[in-house]
Amino acid sequence: MNYKKPYKGRALSALSMSEVELIKVNEIFFSIQGESSWVGHPTVFVRTSGCHLRCTYCDTTYAYYEGQLMGVEDILLQVQRYQTKYVCITGGEPLLQKDVFLLAEKLCTDEYFVSVETSGDLDCTRLDPRVKKIIDVKTPDSGAPHAFCKANLNLADVNNEFKFVICSEKDFEWAENFCVENGLFKKTNVLYSPSYSVISEKWLAKKILSSASTARLQLQLHKYIWSPTERGV
Ligand code: SF4
Repeated sequence: MNYKKPYKGRALSALSMSEVELIKVNEIFFSIQGESSWVGHPTVFVRTSGCHLRCTYCDTTYAYYEGQLMGVEDILLQVQRYQTKYVCITGGEPLLQKDVFLLAEKLCTDEYFVSVETSGDLDCTRLDPRVKKIIDVKTPDSGAPHAFCKANLNLADVNNEFKFVICSEKDFEWAENFCVENGLFKKTNVLYSPSYSVISEKWLAKKILSSASTARLQLQLHKYIWSPTERGV
């Protein structure tokens, strides 16, 4: 597939080192957005390297260590090569690297629709307000049950999304309580995603309906389009 536009602009080598902000990047690829309310949009994904958590269902373990350092300007040039205005910064955990904040801001200024997917364990309030924050809330069966930064509750509004990966009935009940206690159903978009191959989509759909929950069921569309283990899609 060749969706790339001609490469234009300054390469990293043309910049002086004092200008360079570096981010360790695992991969940059063009695919269909499989999650969030922007699902279905052709999107450039910038996957950063490194994560401090180890969730039981993690499907990007290859991003824990693999990657190469890239300048922010070079990442912007790579993004410009694709025919879309949607960019998703994901990981790993993107917010572990300070220059990700700058990258997100520059992409917004370049009039991209930017989303950042984060574990929810780090403070997202410093991200540019134009960024759509997709904030995971780690459930008891995630393997990282206390990984949540409470400051992120300040971002509960219509522009952002709170996502729960549900692994069990206990997780479902926990997520419902968390949303009610923190007013999330009233303030923001709440997404429940079944832990892939752990619980079925149908089970979670029925659970949402029978509980009269107002969470939205979210499937990882990319896993149904491509192979569930395929990288770069
Ligand atoms: S936060 Fe995301 S990248 Fe990190 S271990 Fe959990 S699922 Fe994997």
